[in-house]
Amino acid sequence: MLKTLRSRLTAMATGITLTVTLLVCISLYWGIRHSLYQEVDAFLAGEVMEFQAILSHVDGDLQDAQRRIRAELGSRQRGDLAFRLLTEQGRVLLTSDAEHTLPDQWSVPADHSSGLIIRTEYSRARREPMRTCSQWITNTDGTNCIAQVTYRLDQVHASLKRFLNTCIVALAAAAVLATIGGRILAFRSLRLVNAMTTSARRISVEDLTERLERSHTNDELDELAATFNDMLARLAKQVDQLRQFTADAAHELRTPLAALRGAAEVVLSSNNSPDEMRAVLADSIDEYDRLARIANSLLLLARADAGQEFIRRAPLPLHTALRDVIDLFTPVAEEQGLSLLLSQCDTAWVDGDDDHLRQTISNLLDNAIKSTPTGGTIRASLAIADDAINLTVSDTGIGIAPHHLPRIFDRFYRVDRARSRETGGAGLGLSICKTIVEAHGGSIRLSSEPDSGTSVSLKIPAIHPPNDIP
Ligand code: ADP
Repeated sequence: MLKTLRSRLTAMATGITLTVTLLVCISLYWGIRHSLYQEVDAFLAGEVMEFQAILSHVDGDLQDAQRRIRAELGSRQRGDLAFRLLTEQGRVLLTSDAEHTLPDQWSVPADHSSGLIIRTEYSRARREPMRTCSQWITNTDGTNCIAQVTYRLDQVHASLKRFLNTCIVALAAAAVLATIGGRILAFRSLRLVNAMTTSARRISVEDLTERLERSHTNDELDELAATFNDMLARLAKQVDQLRQFTADAAHELRTPLAALRGAAEVVLSSNNSPDEMRAVLADSIDEYDRLARIANSLLLLARADAGQEFIRRAPLPLHTALRDVIDLFTPVAEEQGLSLLLSQCDTAWVDGDDDHLRQTISNLLDNAIKSTPTGGTIRASLAIADDAINLTVSDTGIGIAPHHLPRIFDRFYRVDRARSRETGGAGLGLSICKTIVEAHGGSIRLSSEPDSGTSVSLKIPAIHPPNDIP
């Protein structure tokens, strides 16, 4: 029955309203009852004093006292009030005329020192509730007697009963109103949730443009919808990037595959000499290399995206890795008429992956060599400051136009597609460098000016050299 949130909210609202109304009714009932009884008690105490005053006036003449009391009660037309005077032994000395209304047993104060005793007793004839008040009094002759006054409570009880009936009506009205109000409240609060559910059903990977309806009231539901919409926007961006990545990867793989297929057709279809065929096959090796490079790069990026640990960390001397890579590239640079210099090389240790860091430096030097015309200079430096290593590769090459810079680290992004393809680049080099450096807890920055040169800086956390290394 309470399966839906709406019915649970309604039941909760009804329950809370009924409980509060019931508590209010109970406390009001007891409050009113208490104050009515207090009023009666104060009235009875006053009447006992008046009774005492009459007795002191009559100077022991009980007949006169009885007459005066009856006259007083008669003039006041108080059928609800009765008096009685008892001896110390409990014998009735005088009573008002309403004997039948008097209770069976009146409580008698234990001794002279007891003050007023006020109790609820029941009348002899009709078993009606009565409030009784008794007190010891001392006569002028020094004897003691007990003065008693009683008041019928039927009026008080009738008022309380009327109040109880009103409470029952109020409770019933509260139940009906709370149910209706609870339903309206639940409907209004859940209207937005229903709209969100409908919108959410329309969202799929194929269509991430749908957004949840917002109330713009800045309440919790509105905040939930805003957060969900932000998440959808991020998801849409990531799905777009993934689609772009897959399309670019397929495109990049198609070129070397087409070249390889062409080479195979040439070998099969013509009457080429074995030397010519060997030459075609030798060319094919470049394409195989290109394919292998792209596949390795894609694998590395996919692992990084999946959050897999793709680097194997160990303390390594980065200065040695830099020197080795420079040595490797020096002949290539010289062949192109470039000078490759190592301007600074501090001793710097990192907790990292030797192969991947060498690959990073190689990518940077490779880019610099490809982008620097003959006669240019490529400068590498390794400086250490405040536990951070700064490795920079700068060149005096063609530079990069400013509008390319924001996307220069994007996957498959190339400044000049045709020329990059000629030089074998798939536009993955810098994004791989960035992924590797970030996996080492570092950062990469590129600054460039067209026709002036480019500078790429890596910042990687340094470690202290291991103890056994001098
Ligand atoms: P690729 O693997 O194709 O070289 P990269 O991600 O390494 O791709 O580089 C992206 C683009 O940035 C390349 O198209 C290249 O033209 C340009 N680029 C990278 N380094 C330099 C540089 N030092 N000077 C000029 N252009 C550069």
